[in-house]
Amino acid sequence: MQRHFIIELLGIKDKQVDVWNIEEEGSVLRVELYTRQRQQKCPFCKEKTKRVHGYRNQAIQGPVLSNKAVRLSLRKRRYLCTSCGRTFYERLQMVEFYQRCTSALKTPALTYTAFHSFTTAARLAGMTTNRLLRLFDQQQLKTRKVLPRAIAIDEFKGDAGGERFQTNVVDVENREIIDILPDRKVETIEKYLRSCDTSKVEIVVMNLSKSFKQAVRKVLGDPLIIADRFHFMRQIYWGLDEVRREVQREVDKQTRIHMKRSKKLLWKSPSKLSEEGRQKVEKLLQIHPRLKEAYALERNSVAEEISETPAEKRAAETPQRALRGGSGVRPRKASLFPLRSE
Ligand SMILES: [Zn+2]
Repeated sequence: MQRHFIIELLGIKDKQVDVWNIEEEGSVLRVELYTRQRQQKCPFCKEKTKRVHGYRNQAIQGPVLSNKAVRLSLRKRRYLCTSCGRTFYERLQMVEFYQRCTSALKTPALTYTAFHSFTTAARLAGMTTNRLLRLFDQQQLKTRKVLPRAIAIDEFKGDAGGERFQTNVVDVENREIIDILPDRKVETIEKYLRSCDTSKVEIVVMNLSKSFKQAVRKVLGDPLIIADRFHFMRQIYWGLDEVRREVQREVDKQTRIHMKRSKKLLWKSPSKLSEEGRQKVEKLLQIHPRLKEAYALERNSVAEEISETPAEKRAAETPQRALRGGSGVRPRKASLFPLRSE
């Protein structure tokens, strides 16, 4: 492999870093790097110096290149400041970059497993499948994990470990995957929840399958359960219709008949309404301020939900807005958005 080519492959941007030696040992590629002497700015007194104080070899875990794990050995140089007498290592972007990568690799790698097979996820994350599996196991082994206030439990087709479906547990408010369970069996979810400290959990976002719900109730008692996007949106439509019916009861007969026929107009997207339809909706909304408010809330939610979002993000977003009430779907009136499931 050409030397400057490998520098590029490794994403090294420091111009003074160069390759000293490359060796292949089975599935490992050992790359020895060195730096060229360069004028440095002392981090303490900001004076310039070029005086070398000493060297140190630093081992860095590199990425996986064409199925080979790259082990980097960097000969770092320590400089002496001739003004203040202190010594310091040269600052290298690549060191910071790879250190960040090593610790930051874990979360994306585990996130990838939510959408891909382990092999694909490992490739995307730039690690070997074995390493990813180890990470996965470590993640499973942690006990008495404290679950956050709002969690989402969702199944996905991961094709891992001989199971078609896996279950992921997401921290809704921080949008982080907490865990990935090996299958979608009720016993697995139940066992998992039991292994955690669930005293903080108040809200669970999940699909409405009975077995999931049973498991959650069994362990968590009676948390607020919010349905997934589809069910959530249905609740919003129902909420709007409920307000319409309430208002209807309060108005005179003629208006009532008029309103009864209007149900579908209110559900339609304004962009799909004819000019006449739009005017009718406007008139309807003038009947009662509550109806107008409910309609605005509903339109708001629909507009935000309509854009395609990946499953995990979707699960994380819907309840988040409901919780924070940031953009208007907050269940302000219990009767407007009856989110607590039966
Ligand atoms: Zn200095």
